[in-house]
Amino acid sequence: MAVTAQSVPILKDNYAWLLRDTETGATAIVDPAEGAPIIAAIEAAGGRLDMILLTHHHGDHIADADVVRARFPGCKMVGAAADAHRLPALDQAVREGDTVRLGNATAQVIDTPGHTRGQINYFFPDGPILLSGDTLFSLGCGRLIEGTAGEMFASLGKLAALPDDTLVCCGHEYTEANAKFALSVDPANAALIARTAEAREQRAAGKPTIPSRLGDEKRANPFLLAKDATALAEVRGKKDRF
Ligand code: ZN
Ligand code: FE
Repeated sequence: MAVTAQSVPILKDNYAWLLRDTETGATAIVDPAEGAPIIAAIEAAGGRLDMILLTHHHGDHIADADVVRARFPGCKMVGAAADAHRLPALDQAVREGDTVRLGNATAQVIDTPGHTRGQINYFFPDGPILLSGDTLFSLGCGRLIEGTAGEMFASLGKLAALPDDTLVCCGHEYTEANAKFALSVDPANAALIARTAEAREQRAAGKPTIPSRLGDEKRANPFLLAKDATALAEVRGKKDRF
């Protein structure tokens, strides 16, 4: 495995992700919204930072990106071209189909509108690791703040095409609450029941439930199981009122 991902818990229930290309030691941080714990994690990992990757413009993902950049001069800020006007100053503005290099590893940029208009995800085939921001959560998906159910359906469809063994590194520890809702709409789903039990054990042991495995999400996540945009809109509406 050439790229590894380590979660850094920040704020109330967010995760930033420390990525490392094991061949070269190149290091990136994803969504560094809180400076102190992130700087500490980078220093504990050797004090090298090559790149900051941003998934979307919300404060709980970008707030301290400039603080982290100032501490590690020369690191490169990468984010969505479509949202460049509301992100910290970007050194590389990217869109669907672009690639981002971390040492010897390459990430593919995937446009995933729905939660926000300019949301992007990063996929490292050499993990495989998906940085899913607030698009895909374990057993959930982001609220439709700026986008439509049709956009979210198309975005999730792109993610579902990735390999089952992909590690889903999302932006929040929402799994247990998502599981409660998911079981209310799909109570007999064996994969969902198993994932719920696993998440409960992980939390009881004080461990993160993230990353999850994309194959499990395809079988258990009610938003990935929605068969069309109308079905997704219905599930999303129920979750918003749950
Ligand atoms: Zn968000
Ligand atoms: Fe968020």
